[in-house]
Amino acid sequence: MKIDLCPNCGSDSYVKSGIVNDRQRYRCKSCNYYFTVNKLGKKIDDYYVNKALQLYLEGLTYREIERILGISHVSIMNWVKKYNIKRPYNSAYHPTYKILNAEELSLFFSNAKNLSGAGALVTELGDKFMLIKWERFKD
Ligand SMILES: [Zn+2]
Repeated sequence: MKIDLCPNCGSDSYVKSGIVNDRQRYRCKSCNYYFTVNKLGKKIDDYYVNKALQLYLEGLTYREIERILGISHVSIMNWVKKYNIKRPYNSAYHPTYKILNAEELSLFFSNAKNLSGAGALVTELGDKFMLIKWERFKD
C-alpha cells in the first residue's frame, strides 16, 4: 500500500523509521509524528464509515451506498447496527443525487432554479462531490 501524506499534519515529507509489529513505520519530517501504514489505513476506513452512515441517514438504500462508495452493503448494514443508526423520517420522500466535480457543482449552484423547492446538500466523495436533493419518490 502506498502512502501519500502524514496522517497527523498532511505533509508528504517523511522517512522510513524501522519496522514495528511487521509493519513499516514512518517518521514525518515536518511534525515528527510516527505512523505505520496500518494506522493510515484505519483513518481512511473511518472516513468511509462516516460517509456511508451519512448517506444512509440521507435516505439512500444499502445498495445505492454500495454502488457509490464501493463498500459492501453487508459492511454498511453492520455499521448501521454497530452505531445504532436510526432514520428519523418516513420513506415518502426519496433523495435523488448526482456525482459532480467542483466545476459542475458551481454551475449547478449558479442556477437558482436548481435549488427551488427543496434545496440541496453537498458532501465530499473522494475527489468529487455528491449533491443530494429531495423529491417525492416517483414510482
Ligand atoms: Zn506530520
